[in-house]
Amino acid sequence: MPYSPGIVYQLSPAPGERCIICNTAITNGFLVCSIECAERQLQSTPLVPLRQYHRAYKDVVSRLRAQWKHSTSAPTVRAVYAVITSESSNTTYLDYRAQVESKRHCTRLNFRPGNERLRWHGSFSKCDLANIGTKICGILDGCPLCSILRESFKVEKYQGGGLFGRGIYSTATSSKADNHAHISRGSYRALTLASVVAGYGKQLSDENHGLTEPPAGYDAVLGIPRAGGTFLYDETVVYDNDAIRPVFLIVYG
Ligand SMILES: [Zn+2]
Ligand SMILES: [Zn+2]
Repeated sequence: MPYSPGIVYQLSPAPGERCIICNTAITNGFLVCSIECAERQLQSTPLVPLRQYHRAYKDVVSRLRAQWKHSTSAPTVRAVYAVITSESSNTTYLDYRAQVESKRHCTRLNFRPGNERLRWHGSFSKCDLANIGTKICGILDGCPLCSILRESFKVEKYQGGGLFGRGIYSTATSSKADNHAHISRGSYRALTLASVVAGYGKQLSDENHGLTEPPAGYDAVLGIPRAGGTFLYDETVVYDNDAIRPVFLIVYG
């Protein structure tokens, strides 16, 4: 089992890097020094702000801009947070990833283990996103964003209306995710950047509303737009709670 304290995101190790929570020097490319440090952080908030010069901050912002495909210009970034997840939540995700990898051997094809990808998710928020870093609202049932930040994504919260049935939706197109980032307070919006184990993704270009699991032999559905089709942007849909974890929150507007 890879050692992954607090957040399943790893950069290639570089000299001089420090834990984003406690500032201890770290050498393994993770953002957080230890499970204990992550668990301590979780007692107050799962969000840790990243400094603008941090490689992870630059990575998230450049993905938002490069993947903004709508004709509107990409919005001004106000903050980027790492989303800390608990040891148990990290472990179930990494176990799932290992299971998929053992079946699909994605690394042999030079993909990440389990064909893990970073994908955008936009959700409704009741939080005042200008101040979310100091306090998430904690309304687990009423604020979908806080629910994701606290407890990750849950297929049980599926509200209907998805192109590929009862699953957890994400996309490589930040501006498409932004269409779902509705707010009830303030003017800033936010997207979650999630780590998704796609494994073998079944490519579908036609809607299939009845799905409750991936087609046999696959781990996910990849919605691929086609000329004259009914949707315009890519979708990555997983049907297992342990196939996805929030990794970053980006606040903009
Ligand atoms: Zn630390
Ligand atoms: Zn909230």
